[in-house]
Parts: sequence; structure tokens; C-alpha cells
Amino acid sequence: MNHRGRWRDAEGIIFDAVGTLIRPWPSVAEAYRAAALRQGVAIAAEETRARFQIHFASDEIHAERGLLSTDEATEKRRWRRIVAGVLPEIPDPDRAFDELWDHFGRPESWRAFPDVAPALRSLESMGVPVCVGSNFDSRLRTVVRGLPELENWRDELVISSEVGYKKPHRSFFEAACAHLGMSPDRVACVGDDLENDVEGAIQAGLSGVFLDRSARGESPFPWISTLAALVQARFHGS
Ligand SMILES: [Mg+2]
Repeated sequence: MNHRGRWRDAEGIIFDAVGTLIRPWPSVAEAYRAAALRQGVAIAAEETRARFQIHFASDEIHAERGLLSTDEATEKRRWRRIVAGVLPEIPDPDRAFDELWDHFGRPESWRAFPDVAPALRSLESMGVPVCVGSNFDSRLRTVVRGLPELENWRDELVISSEVGYKKPHRSFFEAACAHLGMSPDRVACVGDDLENDVEGAIQAGLSGVFLDRSARGESPFPWISTLAALVQARFHGS
């Protein structure tokens, strides 16, 4: 079966975290704007958002291990660079970095999407093994432990900075499949990033499902607009 239909029969599922299961609350732009304001610098939230998109898009390269390799130190360096790039006007970038690093490591700064708890409960009752596969760093462990919708999955986290490679690298997906104890052809990855979660998964031999919460329907790959649709497809095969 080709990748278009195979995901419905997947025996195990990897969910991306940010944008798929959880989102920052307040928004990233608002958190950065507030950090700047604490140093007396006012930047419009829209400007902060635009800058963040630019700086977030470029990866930090781990010099010895190459593209898409990572570890905790690399991630921390990356975030320090992002904060400095988004907020160049502030007098104390190290303070802003420390504050924002702590902020995004706290469960109170995140919310689970409303379709997460029902979908995870349904999959659990169907006996479908699930793990969370994320390019976030080890702070995700604290965040997940503090969110009631996700705390049952606290031991099911596969995190790129711990694996050593980030999505869409094949090694990341191999680690996630190993966590589930399944070969890649039995696993589907579901996420809101086409390159990282869907194309990367397919190239590593999994199936991939694009979660497009805006329901634009422009994906060349299988897509759903809610996690409820994922559960429904498994029940009804449509
Ligand atoms: Mg995501």
C-alpha cells in the first residue's frame, strides 16, 4: 500500500508536540514582547512574531556531527541566538534569554489543544501505542508532567536533543520507532510540520499524516484537520 492509505492501518503513532499536541500560551510573540518590556523596550507583538519566524527557521549546526544533529548544549546555544536576534534592542540579552528559557520550560506557559485528551484516550482504549516525538529539548519533560492531558504519556517522550538528531533526520524516527518497539512500516507520524513530521517520516519508512488545523487542504500528503479525524479514520476506515 502506498503512503496515502497506509497510515490508517498504522499500529503505533508518533505525535509531534508543539503545534500538534500543545501550543504556547500566551503566544511566543507575546512572551518575547513581555521580556523586552521588562527591560523598558516596547516592540509590537507583530514585529516580534515576524522576527521570531526568521530566526527560528535557521538551525544551529553541531560542528562535529553535521546537519540535523543536536544535543542540549546545541539547543541552548540556538535559543540564546534566537532571543538575541528577535530582541536586538534590549540592554541585557542574557537576562531575557534566562527568563524566556525558564518561561517555556514551565507547564503553565503551554496549553494542550482541546482535541488532545479525547484522541489520546480513544487511542489508548483501542490499544494503540503512542509516543511523542519532538524537536523541543528536555524541558518538554517538565512541561508534559505538568499538563493533565499529557501526564499519562510522560514516559513516552522521544526528544531530539536526547536522541542526538532532530526531525526530519532518519535517526530520529528510528529512535522513536525503537521506543514503540515497532518497525517503521507499522508506525505513523502525525504533526503540523510537513517537512519535519510528514516528509521526514515517509523517507524513514513510516507513514506520515499532516495535521493542518487551518484545514487549507493543500497538502500533497494525507492530512487531517483535527486529532478527532485521526481517531475516526481508524474506527471507520474512511
Ligand atoms: Mg510542530
